[in-house]
Amino acid sequence: MPFKTMGLADPLVQGILATGYTAPTDIQSQAIPAILDGKDIIGCAQTGTGKTAAFVLPMLHMMETVPQKTKKTKTRALVVTPTRELAVQIERAVRGYGRYMKLKTIAVYGGTNIDKQIKFLRRGVEVVVATPGRLLDLINRGSLNLSLVEMLVLDEADRMLDMGFINDIRKIVSELPAERQTLLFSATMPNVIKKLTESIQRSPVMIQIGQQHNPIETITQHIYPVPKAQKMDLLLHLIEREEMGSALVFSRTKRGADRICRKLNQHYVEAVAIHSDRTQRQRLKALD
Ligand code: AMP
Repeated sequence: MPFKTMGLADPLVQGILATGYTAPTDIQSQAIPAILDGKDIIGCAQTGTGKTAAFVLPMLHMMETVPQKTKKTKTRALVVTPTRELAVQIERAVRGYGRYMKLKTIAVYGGTNIDKQIKFLRRGVEVVVATPGRLLDLINRGSLNLSLVEMLVLDEADRMLDMGFINDIRKIVSELPAERQTLLFSATMPNVIKKLTESIQRSPVMIQIGQQHNPIETITQHIYPVPKAQKMDLLLHLIEREEMGSALVFSRTKRGADRICRKLNQHYVEAVAIHSDRTQRQRLKALD
């Protein structure tokens, strides 16, 4: 089913075209009609399946087609996500798909100036994308009113659970009106998440995309056993031989990440490190 026949509002179809997508992915084909139908959904899908657009598009459709109940701009949709980087990415996607709509959006997360966020929120924001800690902080300070939220999205619920956010999630949900649409996405479905869905969703439609693979099918894994002293040479060799345009290197420690970065730079490979000792500004710059 092409995007056009899904019944999405015109500015959104234009936004999708401008983004360069021609056809919906599996999760989009299955989730978008159900969400447009007003259903709660549980999306069992991994990153890389196109799940962000699967919830962002129907969310923006709702905003475009259902008039706001109040004169002053109110928060109508809330997306909660485990990491700062993901919050930034999702908020960018909202702005991208909604480029032909009038829309105020914000990503709120820790490690950045809260006063600026408070000031921005005061003017009224329709879509808030947030990490749980900062979101609760803003709620507790009375800077964010969620009483008129119509759609709640919990993205990567299993990771939020792993990161110990489950109680924060419950507190956040208790700030929302009972009458709302709740979409939950999770790559895995541990019991705690199942219980959570039972307490916060209404007869959710379950959408499972593919088998749970780790990593997803499009990724091939190789393993190279080498002595420690040769790891750096191997890395440099692989980067050159495979003519990698970009690569992600994971390291056990923060210092290790810095060291790898320095070594790569010494060999004229442009590299930047992301870890929790770097400022949010440096982390965002690295992502860019
Ligand atoms: P996600 O699983 O939401 O992180 O998306 C994975 C990647 O797929 C992102 O880079 C999206 O921009 C891209 N993507 C999402 N939907 C589509 C689509 N319908 N056609 C092509 N690419 C897409």
